[in-house]
Amino acid sequence: MNLETAPDTGANIGPNSGPNSGMARLMQELREGGVADERVLSVIERTPRGLFVPAPFAAKAFDNVALPIGHHQTVSQPLVVARMTQALDVGERMKVLEVGAGSGYQGAILARLCRRLYAIERYAGLLEEAEKRWARLRISNITALHGDGSLGWPEQAPFDRIMVTAAAADMPPVLLEQLAVGGLMVVPVGDGDHDQRLELVRRTGDGVETEDLGPVRFVPLIDGKAEHL
Ligand code: SAM
Repeated sequence: MNLETAPDTGANIGPNSGPNSGMARLMQELREGGVADERVLSVIERTPRGLFVPAPFAAKAFDNVALPIGHHQTVSQPLVVARMTQALDVGERMKVLEVGAGSGYQGAILARLCRRLYAIERYAGLLEEAEKRWARLRISNITALHGDGSLGWPEQAPFDRIMVTAAAADMPPVLLEQLAVGGLMVVPVGDGDHDQRLELVRRTGDGVETEDLGPVRFVPLIDGKAEHL
């Protein structure tokens, strides 16, 4: 299967803003799914998801489904992206870490909400494509690293916000240590496909407070850089 990124035909990634458009339908689904933060909705509305998926899937970019991005990885369904972004409550002066940059779609959304995004991906090939997409959208406040995001980015810590977009077997203590006091981290936690929970963690002066945001299904967080590509 050809997993090249969709060409910019306009059809897949254009404004698509009419009342019956795919984007209008998606926005309605996000609102019905509990996403009420207008900043988050607005950024999703102007970030063309079709640009971030391989050409054969671009026609499904406005569908509320996860899509393959190569290397057996996926870009999450828009409702999950929106709920995670809303839960993180990102402010425009904040320094944010994303673990698992993948296609770059979630990163584009975070970058448009914060001061600077630090994004880590274990597949060099995915990160290279993500960086091209960010450049094409003229997003210039992302610093990217090909590496093992389970180690975080100690040289850049502390972070005001951390988003992990792959499932950790347990709450990752290394990432918690890199969160500023008062900061928030959203992370899927759990083994296997069927017992993962999305956790929202706030670092307090003397520990952490955790809120369960419900069941999710993510690819696993894997230690180490990918050896190929
Ligand atoms: N946020 C991505 C997007 O918008 O396309 C989707 C992420 S996909 C669900 C999970 C990503 O986490 C994959 O690209 C995978 O390679 C990456 N990943 C898994 N373990 C990792 C690790 N230890 N360090 C960095 N990236 C990791």
